[in-house]
Amino acid sequence: MNEFELIRRYFDRAPDRALLGVGDDCAMLRPNAGLELALTTDMLVEGRHFAAGADARSLGHKSLAVNLSDLAAMGAAPRWALLALGLPAADAKWVEQFAAGFFALAERHGVELIGGDTTRSPLLTISITAIGELPAGVALYRSAAQAGDDIWVSGELGGAALALRRPEIAEAKRRLDWPEPRVELGERLRGLARSAIDVSDGLAGDLAHIAERSRVGAVVEYERIPRPAVFKSLDAALARECLLSGGDDYELVFTALPSRRDAVAAAAASAGVAVTRIGRIEAGSALRFVDRDGAAVDSAFASFDHFLS
Ligand code: ADP
Ligand code: MG
Repeated sequence: MNEFELIRRYFDRAPDRALLGVGDDCAMLRPNAGLELALTTDMLVEGRHFAAGADARSLGHKSLAVNLSDLAAMGAAPRWALLALGLPAADAKWVEQFAAGFFALAERHGVELIGGDTTRSPLLTISITAIGELPAGVALYRSAAQAGDDIWVSGELGGAALALRRPEIAEAKRRLDWPEPRVELGERLRGLARSAIDVSDGLAGDLAHIAERSRVGAVVEYERIPRPAVFKSLDAALARECLLSGGDDYELVFTALPSRRDAVAAAAASAGVAVTRIGRIEAGSALRFVDRDGAAVDSAFASFDHFLS
């Protein structure tokens, strides 16, 4: 099959809300009056974000999931996606599996694939652009945290990072390969959370982004960070590394006024996601991890940076 046949067979689906989908020079959208658009791109590269030979279906899922996670962190409802694929070979079997993983997640969240690009490439490369919508003025910016806010996190952290060291732990491996973007939670946090980010590079690094953008500090009680049960049996230093600097969990970290605790709990319950209060935003610029007594936790951590490691 050539490039055009692959696209027609696996990616060309009739548009629903888009005016025009796959097949012309551009897709065409008509944004709803009064709504804002949120746009994001995330790229996955073989040898960098996944190993050669990684399961095609999980790559289809994960490459879309990481983009939907960014939309969720703004409080946006996902609507459309564009998919750019660099393929070492026109392997129809691979593309079929990839498309199955991609569309299974897309359909759950009402995302339409409206276009993309397909090219031959020495390394398998997947780049997705996702577009979401939300009412004007309610997006969750990284820059809006204020001293006194509670810091919350959804789900559990550390599992995906643990899978990189201990791939035999099935629960961790599932977190790495099949992340669940917190789309519904993000939407329910509009007008309720003050700021939000998704944890792609590790709690310490991602919380530091909120702190920098908002010109505040933060204190997190280490023991409160929610983690998979298997962490009880881990070496303490490994657990700390996975929890503070492990990326790829795609949970939401957000801040909200203490007076909104019940409302946050209700929003999380209706989204079907657990949320945990792990700390608070402070004046200043320091990011501190402390134990129950307030003493600093040994933290030789740094967030993942593509140009440092
Ligand atoms: P052009 O050369 O004008 O950019 P292409 O031949 O690259 O057109 O693409 C033809 C159509 O197929 C376009 O509508 C494009 O958006 C779509 N398309 C190409 N690759 C993909 C893909 N991987 N997923 C979805 N749509 C794709
Ligand atoms: Mg093209």
